[in-house]
Amino acid sequence: MTTTSEEPGVATKTDNPPVYFFGDGTSDGTPELRNLLGGKGAGLAEMSRLGIPVPPGFTITTDVCNAYYDRGRRYPDELDPAVRAGIEHVERIAGTGFGDATNPLLVSVRSGARVSMPGMMDTVLNLGLNDITVEGLAARSDNPRFAYDSYRRFVAMYGDVVLGMERDEETDTNPFEMLLEAKKRKHGVKLDTELDAAALKELVGQYKDAIKEAIGVDFPDDPWDQLWGAIRAVFNSWETPRASVYRGMYGYPSDWGTAVNVQAMVFGNLGDDSATGVVFTRDAATGAARLSGEYLVNAQGEDVVAGVRTPQSILAEARTPDGQLSFEELMPDAFKKLAEACSTLERHFREMQDIEFTVEKKRLWILQTRAGKRTGLAMVKIAVDFVDEGMIDEGTAVRRQDPEQLDELLHPVFDPNASREVIASGLASSPGAAVGRVVFSADEAEDWSSRGEPVVLVRTETSPADIQGMIAAEGILTARGGMTSHAAVVARGMGKCCVSGCSELDIDYRNGRFTVTNEVGTLVVERGDTISIDGSTGEVMLGELPTIEPVLPAEYQRLMAWTDAPRVLGVRANADTPEDAVLARSFGAEGIGLCRTEHMFFVEDRILAFRRMICAENEEERRAALAEILPMQREDFTGILRAMAGFPVTIRLLDPPLHEFLPNTDDELMQVAHALGIDMHQIKRRVEALHEVNPMLGHRGVRLAVTFPEIYEVQSQAIIEATGDLLREGVDAIPEIMVPLVSSAAELASVRTHIDQVAQKVIADRGFDIPYTIGTMIELPRACVTADRIAEHADFFSFGTNDLTQTTFGLSRDDSARFLPAYIDRRLLDHDPFVELDVEGVGELVRIGIERGRSTKPDLKVGICGEHGGNPASVAFCHEQGLNYVSCSPYRVPIARLAAAQAALADDE
Ligand code: PEP
Ligand code: MG
Repeated sequence: MTTTSEEPGVATKTDNPPVYFFGDGTSDGTPELRNLLGGKGAGLAEMSRLGIPVPPGFTITTDVCNAYYDRGRRYPDELDPAVRAGIEHVERIAGTGFGDATNPLLVSVRSGARVSMPGMMDTVLNLGLNDITVEGLAARSDNPRFAYDSYRRFVAMYGDVVLGMERDEETDTNPFEMLLEAKKRKHGVKLDTELDAAALKELVGQYKDAIKEAIGVDFPDDPWDQLWGAIRAVFNSWETPRASVYRGMYGYPSDWGTAVNVQAMVFGNLGDDSATGVVFTRDAATGAARLSGEYLVNAQGEDVVAGVRTPQSILAEARTPDGQLSFEELMPDAFKKLAEACSTLERHFREMQDIEFTVEKKRLWILQTRAGKRTGLAMVKIAVDFVDEGMIDEGTAVRRQDPEQLDELLHPVFDPNASREVIASGLASSPGAAVGRVVFSADEAEDWSSRGEPVVLVRTETSPADIQGMIAAEGILTARGGMTSHAAVVARGMGKCCVSGCSELDIDYRNGRFTVTNEVGTLVVERGDTISIDGSTGEVMLGELPTIEPVLPAEYQRLMAWTDAPRVLGVRANADTPEDAVLARSFGAEGIGLCRTEHMFFVEDRILAFRRMICAENEEERRAALAEILPMQREDFTGILRAMAGFPVTIRLLDPPLHEFLPNTDDELMQVAHALGIDMHQIKRRVEALHEVNPMLGHRGVRLAVTFPEIYEVQSQAIIEATGDLLREGVDAIPEIMVPLVSSAAELASVRTHIDQVAQKVIADRGFDIPYTIGTMIELPRACVTADRIAEHADFFSFGTNDLTQTTFGLSRDDSARFLPAYIDRRLLDHDPFVELDVEGVGELVRIGIERGRSTKPDLKVGICGEHGGNPASVAFCHEQGLNYVSCSPYRVPIARLAAAQAALADDE
């Protein structure tokens, strides 16, 4: 068959050959060609050169994938001869023939992008089998059962992946599984392995009939037709919705494309002297310097990942006490070779490896190696250990950290003193603690969480189709699947708590419940019930367990110290209380970049004074309320300045979106009316008068001070008095007074005059100097454009990129969640601009603001205090723009420190 003659020839755009060979101790490819060969292909090429036993094969490049899409999903002309040469290469090394009736070559066809995308791309195994070659395989292996088992697996996989057979939605099973179950029932057996060759042969026929019935095509018997179909399916899987969701999540562009690896099959299901497994060269959960992983005897690779049988451990020391032998004990020779290969590969790549292996009749084959996914804990420990072992330097250790994954170390865990009523136990697949209401589908998870309900996603097992539900959920609980199952690997990658392989769960999707049956009886858990899952122990509890803050590993402090050496950007925290300031200091914050003073009034005993102030009708009433507020604010500022002694504290003057503070209920209205000495009717009228159509663009920020200067006067007085008190005590208080929502130099100039007057009065009263600075937030496009004028009155700038994003895009911060996701889905935006700074638009305004501000004051201190200050990509942008510091929530301080260090290290590259 010639699949490349549909249209006149269009070649790939580059001069690279379309196909690279590997096997038999040689290879065409090198690790530098990772973008062309994909991670898997580059790894296979390198392993082959290192003398690691890899089955021979070839890699079709990502250039070919891009050419395929450029041509409207058609193969470029040069692919056909290249693939034919590739198959000949494999035939030569393996000593078999593709489609040969007596000695058939079977191949696997796998995707391989430049970065690993677990479960996103499709794989076909045992390709090359048909009614004739299966007999050849049966004769050569002397094992007809094995041959037909391979054949029925191949037809099912091909039906699924290439021909697009769909799962039954109601039962969440695929049609082949249903036929297999029916066959087992008919033969009165429980396990697949109990079906004989004849039964499996019948199944092959039934599978093919099911395909014909469902999609109206005959199963392709020609191995070449099979191969071209599989290559096409791999290319097509690059653009499936689930692959693009995954790419979107990690910001991978679509023009990376995927490579296709075609490789001779080796079999882990040839009997009890065969096996398949996955091994990590370090403990992927804790980072400990020992192998970790799982294997299954007499099985193929997908069985480990699919979690149909629960795999056993690689190491004897890690095995569960259920009588099952570890790989180390069962196959000591192959284990020894595996351990050697692990050590060679880890030392060669200077990185923890995730290795797939197969033992075929006692002979070890390595199928794949790649940098292993790991928990945040393991990420830190492995990097520090590698430095200690002399494998990498400190800068490399810092570069290798995923700033977002640090989050995992900072997550809460369940209080160990709280009593646990464990209802079931599974595998501790991804650490952390999750509490949420039980939901059974990805859609439910998304729905409930968008309504603000934390959820735990409970599934028999997960598949890539569940990805959005997993993103939405607090944690994931599955009934099936091992430590390397889809749920476990993906959750670990997301830093999300996961318990997998919890086989006591019996899930009833139809009725929205699961049951757990044990010695005590049967417990039914309904959709919406709250459960707690512990990803560090694998335990499942009913109800909500109390959580506590995690303890950071010893390696963490060393790693974070290394981040501070190259880092140029300062990192501060957004904090409104002394407690948060202390927490921020413990995370390494070098000051407070934003103290939102309106947040200081959300507490019960203060809100009344605040409401009294905003509902006051004249200056006298307002001053009376402010007189009550003054000592409270002085106390607040004293606490926070003391907690940050020696570091600057940027205190932002009041910026309340009024609607968040107005009294609502009759009770609240009554209290305020009483405090103001007016009646209900009058207070209702005043509240109505304060109503704004668009409060976020309304009477907030500096506009409050223009109409009611006494508010900022009192706050400034409290700041300067608190500072004076502390200085007298010998505490190094460094206040920076910040004016929000400024759009013109005149606004700032006028407010500044008032603040200076108040400050000078306090200073005169106290009789000693109290240093302070006055700056402004830059959070409106007009402020960016007129920054040169504004800078005349400002000692510092702090970009409020939340409001700047809102006002640049002209979209409401509060309402955007309703429509922004559609923009992301349709690729109109790469990411949510409230999460990652929009460099092209908002970033350009930031750049203009800095340039113009510093044209007036070359040494103007510039920071950022919008949420972007804790977003790694935005931190890198801030570094490039020469900001002095970023400010973010305390928990994100380590992430910002790391991202800032990485940005600085990138300058040296
Ligand atoms: C901002 O607008 O970016 C900011 C930090 O202020 P707030 O979020 O309080 O409006
Ligand atoms: Mg703002």
